[in-house]
Amino acid sequence: MSEEAFYESVHAYFDRAALYSKFDAGILQQVKDCNAIYRMKFPVREDDGSIRVVEAFRAEHSYHRLPTKGGIRFSRMVSLNETIALASLMTYKCALVGVPFGGAKGGVKISPSQESEGFRERVTRRYTAELIRKNFIGPDIDVPAPDYGTGEKEMGWIVDTYKNIRMNEPNIYACVTGKPLAMQGIPGRTQATGQGVYFGLRSCLERPEVAKKLGLSPGLAGKRVILQGLGKVGYYAAKHLQQDGGAVIVGVSEQEGGIHNPEGLDIPALFAHRQETGSVLDYPGAENVDRAALLEYSCDILIPAALENQITAENAPRIQAKVIAEAANGPVDQAGDAILCQRGCLVIPDLFLNAGGVTVSYFEWLKNRAGVSFDRMISRHEEIANRNMVAAMETLTGQTLSVSHRDSLIHGPDELRLVVSALEQTMIRAYDRIHEVWLQRDLPDLRTAAFLLSIERVAESYSHHGIFP
Ligand code: NAD
Repeated sequence: MSEEAFYESVHAYFDRAALYSKFDAGILQQVKDCNAIYRMKFPVREDDGSIRVVEAFRAEHSYHRLPTKGGIRFSRMVSLNETIALASLMTYKCALVGVPFGGAKGGVKISPSQESEGFRERVTRRYTAELIRKNFIGPDIDVPAPDYGTGEKEMGWIVDTYKNIRMNEPNIYACVTGKPLAMQGIPGRTQATGQGVYFGLRSCLERPEVAKKLGLSPGLAGKRVILQGLGKVGYYAAKHLQQDGGAVIVGVSEQEGGIHNPEGLDIPALFAHRQETGSVLDYPGAENVDRAALLEYSCDILIPAALENQITAENAPRIQAKVIAEAANGPVDQAGDAILCQRGCLVIPDLFLNAGGVTVSYFEWLKNRAGVSFDRMISRHEEIANRNMVAAMETLTGQTLSVSHRDSLIHGPDELRLVVSALEQTMIRAYDRIHEVWLQRDLPDLRTAAFLLSIERVAESYSHHGIFP
């Protein structure tokens, strides 16, 4: 079963990296195991008045830091072991990018595209009530976020349900992230994971030694990219790669099929086309192709941004991309990974590459706890300093700046700019550190380096814990 393969892959990646760790086996076992699991079944009324029993999960993988944090997935493929594997990846990715949370994940077994909005709302509110009942949600306990099949709307229903049940608690808006702006969300969260994929890929491929080994020129400009999954993560990753990095998106694979154009696809226009027609197929200038076969087409970078186990021993020998950018969680299983590495393909691992989402979720959580937006605290202060600087420049040079030039110098960053620059800095720093560990400890690949770095950070934290009877 694919969810078993994913669970086993995450454990195998952990075990491979743990071989290089200085920590003893007991601490490593504690880092690896999932701390708590809540499995539930609850009744939800269908639109026609009948009752459906829905199965759902929440896994809190690691209490070395609190709160725990992780998205909620709506998919008919959700299972307990998939949820645990995803929760453990959350622990490792938080440790990697310096987000002070343990990992968690939620899963609800419904197929969101086939449900009405009313049914999804009733499921989300009931799931939230179940989490509250068992103390599996709260600003200092466990903080969900969007994942596959969920978005701002669901996060809005969660905070509204929480607020109405726990109205006397402080910081209630910090009980969930990825909320709409009007419900104390933060600008830049929706695009954060995809934009982080762009920053992470750029940090890696601008290294001349990495590019040379792959037979590529350094940087992203002109690189041919194939994307799987034009959802929240995939869309923004491709958009930023195209618009900010100068990459050429030559293929996009979706559930309904794939499209290919060696001259490049305009990602925002393609997104609009899919919204209008319900499909990526028949996009002007592109050829309709098989969605699975497209992953094996010639390109420099392949970005799986849909689900786990998309590259396995079955198709890995035919993959032509030189770089696999794991925007999704677990898109390459361990057998596929071994084949790709042996063929000289560089896999940029999920626990690093898609950590932009939790990074910006952390900013949202901080903002909710502070009860004030970031720019509000600094913009007036910076504006006064900048105004004084511009006045001094004008006095010294005897020249007056144009109104637009003056404005751009005086006004400080807005909240979105602050969020994006902090996200960029986080992804650059994390990559630098992984790269350093990769080389210094002579590790076989980037994934082992990323796992080792995060395992040791979590283990370090556990080794200071008291063990209570
Ligand atoms: P999403 O639901 O917004 O988009 C996923 C897209 O993949 C959908 O458009 C779907 O139709 C498509 N898809 C599904 N199966 C496919 C297939 N076989 N071939 C081609 N396309 C297929 O989900 P998302 O939030 O973008 O999440 C995608 C992945 O990224 C998941 O693995 C998720 O766990 C991971 N992730 C998401 C976030 C986040 O902030 N949303 C953060 C970190 C990691």
